[in-house]
Amino acid sequence: MAKVKRKDFFKGVAVGTLSLPFMIKALRPGIAQHNTGPNINLNKTFKWKMATTWPPNFPVLGEGCVMLAALVKEMSGGRLDIQVYGGGELVPALEVFDTVRSGAVELGHGAAYYWAGKLPAAQFFASVPFGMNAQQTNAWLINGGGLELWQELYATYGLIPIPAGNTAVQMGGWFNKQVNEINDLKGLKMRIPGIGGKVLAKAGGSPVLLAGGEIYTGLERGIIDAAEWIGPYHDYKMGFHQIAKYYYTPGWHEMGTELELLINQKAYESLPSDLQAILQTATYRVNHWVLSEFEAKNSEYLAKIKASSGVEIRKFSSDILEQLRVYTEESIEELVDTDAFAKRTYESFQAFRKKIGAWSDISEKVYYADFI
Ligand code: CA
Repeated sequence: MAKVKRKDFFKGVAVGTLSLPFMIKALRPGIAQHNTGPNINLNKTFKWKMATTWPPNFPVLGEGCVMLAALVKEMSGGRLDIQVYGGGELVPALEVFDTVRSGAVELGHGAAYYWAGKLPAAQFFASVPFGMNAQQTNAWLINGGGLELWQELYATYGLIPIPAGNTAVQMGGWFNKQVNEINDLKGLKMRIPGIGGKVLAKAGGSPVLLAGGEIYTGLERGIIDAAEWIGPYHDYKMGFHQIAKYYYTPGWHEMGTELELLINQKAYESLPSDLQAILQTATYRVNHWVLSEFEAKNSEYLAKIKASSGVEIRKFSSDILEQLRVYTEESIEELVDTDAFAKRTYESFQAFRKKIGAWSDISEKVYYADFI
């Protein structure tokens, strides 16, 4: 009996038996329902603009946007020419979503949790505290149903999202006093955005909203007691190691923040199908490059932080993390109770996390515990 099943299985996955539309859908998720562009005209060129939420040429994130434009230009023989703008150059960073939606620009790059004010479910497509790591997030989005939900949510705004980079695991932040028990967070003024900030508030702390450029001065002058930013590469470049004593791990609030390319749907549909495919394929290439660059640069700059005197890398205790996890669950339950789509998304997210967690438990976690 088992033999027959095995034979059927192999018969089912033989490439020759898969239909072409199925393979295209599998390789370019999301493209099938939008692949309605006009016929290919090699003489027609498209000049597009991309508004981004990052400072111009911001390390890794801004660089990824520039790489995307260069790849698309090369792959299309110059027929799709994208001009990239940093946050504030065309529109302020937090207006990118509405600007792409309006059609004033065709593309945007950012992180979905920036739009949580209008779309509570969007946070799950970027990062929620105690969420999945980068590879698990990509697995959920690209191969586990997450992207379909993301597309459905954004379709109501005339937008198409594509995963376009991941920061990988972030760090827990910079502190000037030790955090040995959950009560040490009481009264702590910390730069930590989003749900992470709500969790800190439940622990008695005060989340403070500061833009990237204001964090160093805030921490140096004692306006805030602690701050999270990204990870060793970006944090080192900000100089936090010169003004804070303790660098805490893990970044429980951002285990693998996914970034997004926003495409105006009407603009996308005006492209011939080969340019649509090029845009999708180049974006997935950048999705992979950004994550790989983060991992490579973080390891390089962790060594620099370790080499600089006066910084101690410390771990949050299991007790602290467990309490933060409980507060996270409360915060997310409060959020999804007010929004039906967020509830649906959370259910998909949780079901996938449970399944892939069981796999990680008996594979990578076992190996990491002893060898990495
Ligand atoms: Ca962060």
